[in-house]
Amino acid sequence: MKLAFRNMTMVPRVLYGTGAFDQLTSILEPKRLNPRAPFIFLVDDVFTQYHEFVQRIPIGYEDEIIFVSTLEEPTTNQVDELVQQIILKYKEMPSGIVGIGGGSVMDLTKAVSLLLTNHGNASDYQGWDLIQNSGIFSVGIPTISGTGAEVSRTAVLKGPDIKLGINSDFTTFDQVVLDPDLTADVSKNQWFFTGMDCFIHCVESLNGTFLNAFSQAHGEKAMALCQNVFLKSALSELEKREQLMMASWLGGVSIANSQVGVAHALSYGLSFVKGIKHGLGNCIVIEHLDAYYPEGTQLFRKMRDYQQIDIPKGICENLSEDEYRQMTRIALGLSPLWENALGKNWQSQVNEKVVRGLYEKM
Ligand code: NAD
Ligand code: ZN
Repeated sequence: MKLAFRNMTMVPRVLYGTGAFDQLTSILEPKRLNPRAPFIFLVDDVFTQYHEFVQRIPIGYEDEIIFVSTLEEPTTNQVDELVQQIILKYKEMPSGIVGIGGGSVMDLTKAVSLLLTNHGNASDYQGWDLIQNSGIFSVGIPTISGTGAEVSRTAVLKGPDIKLGINSDFTTFDQVVLDPDLTADVSKNQWFFTGMDCFIHCVESLNGTFLNAFSQAHGEKAMALCQNVFLKSALSELEKREQLMMASWLGGVSIANSQVGVAHALSYGLSFVKGIKHGLGNCIVIEHLDAYYPEGTQLFRKMRDYQQIDIPKGICENLSEDEYRQMTRIALGLSPLWENALGKNWQSQVNEKVVRGLYEKM
C-alpha cells in the first residue's frame, strides 16, 4: 500500500559551532568497537595542502585517512573500489566512517557506509528504497555549504547508465558536525555555485506541487538566508559562512519532504553527458527557466551580477545527436522531479522536443 505521507528520517545527532570540529574525538571514541576496528576518514584531497587541518583529524589505533579526488562527481565504481580496499585491508568491520568535504565526499561516505553492509555493487542500489541493511556508523562533516547532502537521505552517484541517488531511510548520516570555520578557504566561484545549489533547492521546493507547510517553513528560511549571504555586503565573512551553512541544512530538509524540479532534472543530464558539476550545472540551467520559475530566475541573475560571477555559455553548441538523446533521456527519466514541478500531468507539458529546446539554449 502506498502511504500518503513520508515518515521522514532525520540525522539523529548534530554538533554545531565554530571550532566544533575539535570535539570530534568525544563523538568517535564511544563508538569505537575495539582497537582493531578502525575509523576510516574519507577526506577531500584539496586538504592535502592544509597540513594544520590534517593534523587536527583525530586518528588513533589503526584509523586511516583516505584522500579522495573530487575533480569528478562520485561514481558507483569509486564506491565499489573504496569498499574493496577497506574490506581487503582490515580483518574487522570498521567502527565507522567519517566524510570531510563537500557534497561529493558526503555522498561517497554515505554510499561506502552502506555498501560495507549490503551485498553487491553500488549501482544495484541506485533508486528508491532498495537498501536492506543499515550501514556502518557514519559521520558527515561538510567543508562547503549548499548541497544539503549532509542532511539528505540520498547519496547521488554516477553509475554506468545514469546519475541517480541511493535513496533510502538508511542513507542519512548518524552524526553531522557543522563547523562554519571549515568553509573558510572555498574559492569565490565555487562558494557561489554550491551556494546556488541551495538557493535552487528552495526555488524548486517552494514552487513545487509537493509543497507542504513543513517543507515551506524550512525552504523560506533557507531562501532568506541565501539572500542575506549573496545580496548583503554588511555581513562579516564568518556570518556569511554561518548563514550559508544553516541555509544548506534547511534547504536540504525542505527538499527531503518535497522534491526538486526542472533545474535539477536538466542539470543531471548535463552532469552525466558533459561532466559538468552539480552546482555549476544548476547555475547554467536556471538562466533559461523563466517559463517555470520566473521569480527565481530573476533573483538568481541579481545575485550573479551582485557577486560578479560569469556563467559559461554555449556549452551545448557542439553536442552530437547521440549526446542530446542521452541528456534528454536522463532528464525526462526523473519523473518525480517533473511531477513536483508541473503536477501529475507533466507529460502533457514536457517532452523530448521541449527538453532539447532548453538544452540548445545553454
Ligand atoms: P564538491 O564536493 O564537488 O566540491 C567542490 C570543490 O570545492 C572541490 O574542488 C573541492 O575540492 C572544493 N572544496 C570543498 N571544500 C573546500 C574547502 N573547505 N576549501 C577549499 N576547497 C574546498 O562540491 P559540492 O557542490 O559541495 O557537491 C557537489 C556534489 O554533491 C555533486 O556530486 C552532487 O551530485 C552532490 N549533491 C548531493 C546532494 C544530496 O542530497 N546527496 C544534493 C545536492 C548535490
Ligand atoms: Zn542540488
